[in-house]
Amino acid sequence: MSLSHKFKSTRRLIQDKCGNFLVINQLPINMSGLPEADLSMISRIHPIPVFTDNYIWTLIDDNQGLACVVDPGDASPVIEYLSAQDLQLSTIFITHHHPDHTGGLGALIEQFQPQVFGPSGSNIPGIETYVKEGDSLSLFGTDFVIFEVPGHTLDHIAYYAANQAATPWLFCGDTLFAAGCGRLFEGTPEMMQQSLQKLAVLPPETEVYCTHEYTLANLKFALAAETNNTTLQKRVAIEQSKRDEGEPTLPSSIGLELATNPFLRCDSAEVIQSIESLTGNSGGSKTEVFAALRRWKDNF
Ligand SMILES: [Zn+2]
Repeated sequence: MSLSHKFKSTRRLIQDKCGNFLVINQLPINMSGLPEADLSMISRIHPIPVFTDNYIWTLIDDNQGLACVVDPGDASPVIEYLSAQDLQLSTIFITHHHPDHTGGLGALIEQFQPQVFGPSGSNIPGIETYVKEGDSLSLFGTDFVIFEVPGHTLDHIAYYAANQAATPWLFCGDTLFAAGCGRLFEGTPEMMQQSLQKLAVLPPETEVYCTHEYTLANLKFALAAETNNTTLQKRVAIEQSKRDEGEPTLPSSIGLELATNPFLRCDSAEVIQSIESLTGNSGGSKTEVFAALRRWKDNF
């Protein structure tokens, strides 16, 4: 079975009671009228919670018993999960150099010898294949393209699967969060805004798998910036009930972020008004509004 096999059936994602995001496939029917066997595909996406609020997203091919983890900040919970599920780690995706995204690399490489992809602008020990804007790679029959999204750090990249016959997926580390965005540790507001814009134009149904469970705190800030946004008000109740049930609020979607994330809404009249009241300045550019919003959030 070739890894570049194009899966043309329909797929949708549901979440089971254990927190797995199950990819529901309708198998293509071959000439004999039976479903094709031996398909290499990502069948599940599972969040492994680590530290206080990180998720290590795990992309699983149940057919082959293989897994890929995104940003393994810690090795032990990954090893424990893979062992319980009887999976081998074949691949690692790294989005940027911060230790809570890379801390588990050494131990995982030693145990599994996976192929490790990471940003070409970084110097992270253990990365074997450096990728940059526009590069593509294939994982378990799914094609991913790379976006460079500097701002949080200068080396930050995102992994995007267009999934022609299914919902697209975006693994964006600490760039776009549910109702927020990463702090600007290395880049400028202009840089971060351009990076976010690259993600904002993806199909609205794109599922957004970011690294941190910051959603409720981000929503509190979003409401302060845009109090009268009714979609945002409804989202607060929805995400709160997920957390009350112990469920992740992720993945989010690009459409939901466009409607509720103040950092993607710097042209909203109410967000502009909030920034003008805060700074006492009016008539700022979109980037100035974004920069003021980010500074406000840093101290919120
Ligand atoms: Zn980070």
